[in-house]
Amino acid sequence: MVQLKTDTHIEAMRASGRVVAQILTRAREAAAVGVTPRELDEAAREVLREVGAASPFLNYRPHFASTPFPAVICVSVNDAIVHGIPSDEPLRDGDLVSVDAGALLDGWAGDAAVSFTVGRARPADTRLIAASVRALEAGIAAAVVGNRIGDIAHAIGTVCRDAGYGIMEGYGGHGIGRSMHEDPAVPNEGRPGRGMPLRHGMVLAIEPMLIAGGGDAFREDRDGWTLRTTDGSRAAHSEHTVAITDDGPRVLTVL
Ligand code: MG
Repeated sequence: MVQLKTDTHIEAMRASGRVVAQILTRAREAAAVGVTPRELDEAAREVLREVGAASPFLNYRPHFASTPFPAVICVSVNDAIVHGIPSDEPLRDGDLVSVDAGALLDGWAGDAAVSFTVGRARPADTRLIAASVRALEAGIAAAVVGNRIGDIAHAIGTVCRDAGYGIMEGYGGHGIGRSMHEDPAVPNEGRPGRGMPLRHGMVLAIEPMLIAGGGDAFREDRDGWTLRTTDGSRAAHSEHTVAITDDGPRVLTVL
């Protein structure tokens, strides 16, 4: 069931979204060749401590997971698409890093992700990341009252496919509010004009995940969390928490 938020709720989620943006900013600033993903997680924990927020990621254990998630951010490097456990493996020149972050402030969740490179970027990675940002922007632009979920999905999928990239099959965005994952599901590919009508007060995490190789397949790592491309190609992930309002989409996970 979709939980519509009041304007007061959306203001509270804006505060939580700002914390998520602070975490992503801090993690990105800390990221460099030789720095470990675990150090990025420590930087993220520092932000949560400073603002007195909790993490919806830490110890998260959905039905598919055999172990609770051990960190406050996901750090997915190169062929890892999402759900990467921050490791002690130092980042190398040209790595493509996707950081997914969440925060719980006053009982409201925020969720966002960003991809970037460290050191000398491969042009192919720069293009892939730019496409994931464009796909996110297209999804946000379609998140308007009068549209349906399928319009968001179609907008995202069109950008990804037109650029020649694959889309993680069966994964996508979600409603968000008191908990990180609520109804409805927000697929990254779909038919326009289909699905649930969008209404003022719906808050959605919109999150295209692109696979450079063009395939849609992925596999789970031995760690039980990290999802990697099957073809070994690189992946990018861009996400924002967005409130649908009568005045248009409002991105909550910005500074
Ligand atoms: Mg996320």
